Amino acid sequence: MTESESTPVRSTGPRQVRPRTEGWTQKLDADGKPLLQFAAPKKGMPPVHLADLTPDERVAKVKELGMPGFRAAQLEKHYFQHYTSDPAHMTDLPASGRDELAAGMLPHLLTEVRRLETDRGDTIKFLWKLHDGALVESVLMRYTGRITLCVSSQAGCGMNCPFCATGQAGLTRNMSAAEIVEQVVRANRLIAEGGLGDPRRVGHEDERVTNIVFMGMGEPLANYNRVMQAVRTMVDKKHGLGMSARGITVSTVGLVPAINKLAAEDIPVTFALSLHAPDDLLRDEMIPINSRWKVDEALDAARGYFEKTGRRVSIEYALIKDMNDHAWRADLLADKLNARGRGWVHVNPIPLNPTPGSVWTASEVPVQNEFVRRLNEAGIPTTLRDTRGKEIDGACGQLVATEEDQAVAAGVPTD
Ligand code: SAH
Repeated sequence: MTESESTPVRSTGPRQVRPRTEGWTQKLDADGKPLLQFAAPKKGMPPVHLADLTPDERVAKVKELGMPGFRAAQLEKHYFQHYTSDPAHMTDLPASGRDELAAGMLPHLLTEVRRLETDRGDTIKFLWKLHDGALVESVLMRYTGRITLCVSSQAGCGMNCPFCATGQAGLTRNMSAAEIVEQVVRANRLIAEGGLGDPRRVGHEDERVTNIVFMGMGEPLANYNRVMQAVRTMVDKKHGLGMSARGITVSTVGLVPAINKLAAEDIPVTFALSLHAPDDLLRDEMIPINSRWKVDEALDAARGYFEKTGRRVSIEYALIKDMNDHAWRADLLADKLNARGRGWVHVNPIPLNPTPGSVWTASEVPVQNEFVRRLNEAGIPTTLRDTRGKEIDGACGQLVATEEDQAVAAGVPTD
């Protein structure tokens, strides 16, 4: 960052770096504001899969395919409990028509293009090619006592946040509910095969993904219905994966009407708001959606989520050097949160993972610590989040399907 790019807030105040993009150009709308893409092209959606349907719809579809309705439950068991879509493993189905039934109900959705591992195999990033060639990623992480999968909900993202790698290429399309669920099923299959971590250290047979974070590519609340169908399937004990709703975190830039809708659902998922700045002046530039719904509106909606569900909400805050990491911003954030009550929220600052070509850097450690200290002192539980998977570009905000990945997906050598 050169001196000319930073403008002090006050002549005597701290350095203030403005969120300016470098190395790429942010798309603008007709008014010259960062472009927000809500409507996704319909083209490219995959064939309908069992996980896109309600249990009743599954029975109806099986019948349409000329089989008795009870076959739906058998398919659910293969898919959600044994993580298989392969008819060869389904010996409880009649041999004649088995392949057609599996193809009709469990069409192939994700082709694994690349897998990167780090942390002694405890962190794995998958690059998936969707049926239309679109690329998405998920990241699987083993912690003590839990296994977390960071899933993508859209190919690309329309929210255009200048510090996030995914936003830079815009929105390709929404992912279907089944494409979202399939990321979990494939991760579970890998875990069941002993593929996560050193098998000498791990390997309980019944291990599987326990936590989901919608912090991969995409804005989950901009793909609301499909994300909710995926969540319902994840938590359904009888017809789905039977996961706990509190282990599922939906993270958003702050689409206020959708937050209110989410609060009214009877699925108490964990809710996270990507705030990144407590003042509109800065947030307008960092999170373009802030031009629609301001900091206070987003915080009111987050508070509303707590009131409706009793679930403590998370505030995400990427700490960027001299941009949003000032002590006064920690204090302002604490004031705004405390003004809405006590015990309803915690803050998760994360040092920025610089995107390729970015001139911004993560805050320095003493600055990070001071930011956290001030919030804690003000009575807001605050813990710095780890940046797992950084070396494999699998950390928050680093997920992007690059041109190089496109070449890999097409089978073209890249070097
Ligand atoms: N669209 C959703 C979910 C995807 S991003 C959302 O914004 O919440 C998941 C988290 O990673 C968000 O909090 C996002 O702001 C954060 N993030 C994005 N880019 C980042 C970066 N370069 N460094 C650290 N965190 C980043």
